[in-house]
Amino acid sequence: EFVAILPDTDTEQAYMIGKKIRDRMEAISIEAPNGEKVKATVSIGISVYPDHGKDDKELFLIADNMMYKSKRAGKNRISSPNEDDIAQSFKIAGEKTQLVLNTLEKRNLVPYFQPIQNIASGGIEIYELLMRIQTDSDIITASEFIDVAESLGVIHKLDYILIEKAFEVIMEREYKGMLFINISPKALIIGEFIKNILTIAKKYKINTENIVLEITERDTVKNVTLLEKFVQELKFEGFKFAVDDFGSGFSSFHYVKRLPIDYIKIEGEFIRTLQKDSADIALIKSIVTLAKELKIKTVAEYVESAEILEEVRKVGVDYAQGYYIGKPKEDFLQEETTL
Ligand code: C2E
Ligand code: CA
Repeated sequence: EFVAILPDTDTEQAYMIGKKIRDRMEAISIEAPNGEKVKATVSIGISVYPDHGKDDKELFLIADNMMYKSKRAGKNRISSPNEDDIAQSFKIAGEKTQLVLNTLEKRNLVPYFQPIQNIASGGIEIYELLMRIQTDSDIITASEFIDVAESLGVIHKLDYILIEKAFEVIMEREYKGMLFINISPKALIIGEFIKNILTIAKKYKINTENIVLEITERDTVKNVTLLEKFVQELKFEGFKFAVDDFGSGFSSFHYVKRLPIDYIKIEGEFIRTLQKDSADIALIKSIVTLAKELKIKTVAEYVESAEILEEVRKVGVDYAQGYYIGKPKEDFLQEETTL
């Protein structure tokens, strides 16, 4: 996604510029190795100050929603908002904000657990903790609200509530395996993360060596040195670390180089549509080689079929996670776990 900021431009002029961008894109094609011509389309959303929003947040919200409107309408077009669009965009954003703020107050979060299989032994040795909001009528998945919680700067508070609930479940069920927990790097360095997580771990008698913190690049921190310090401290306390969605962004390699990483979780989008002898296989092979060299274990995400499990096994990935292995669910059973 790209943004063009146009000073002193009204909606009509912005539309003309959008059209120019689209026409230029239409004229471009790239030749694939098999000789086919590959083309790209562009979906554009417009918002204009002060007509559609009073500050950067509102303008981005509207432009983003208009971009999705262009996509829904068939892509390769430009959309500017009418009054209904503006009202609708604010309504959805407002509802999500309300949902997150309500959850902070009511603590109506539920821990979901997704199994991760050791490919060599076939056993389930690990679960990943995923956040769900329980409303009166629904269970809402993390992808619906994580962005909002991050931009409101409250994700770490939701994380504490969820982690505490998950630790309680683990203690009750006497689960002795590993638990992977998603944590944004920003949450690691704000507040008193280390003190707080140690307090909850102690309260529920959790062995910190069984906890793996997954760091994403989504909400990255600029100060890697500071992040490094916190990671080292947690490492000293027994925690392990994983890089989440490895390969999807630019800091993956940086993290592996700078931080004591134990697991690499290979971006699910490389895995989900995996085909024999494809570029994806070459990419996964190179990640596995890198990991082995650094004595880091690898996990393939989004393993959705037996064929894909077989492909990732062949290239030497250590663990598999995805709908084929098991969907995230509320109750994870000790019996399923093989340690
Ligand atoms: P992620 O860590 O990459 O998590 C994997 C997401 O993919 C989960 O969605 C999961 O339900 C889904 N998934 C699992 N297997 C498959 C599969 O085989 N195919 C497909 N298509 N999808 C699969 P979910 O739970 O909605 O989480 C979305 C993202 O939200 C997560 O991405 C993670 O970055 C973040 N997140 C989830 N729980 C938490 C949390 O407790 N704290 C924080 N800070 N972030 C969280
Ligand atoms: Ca994850």
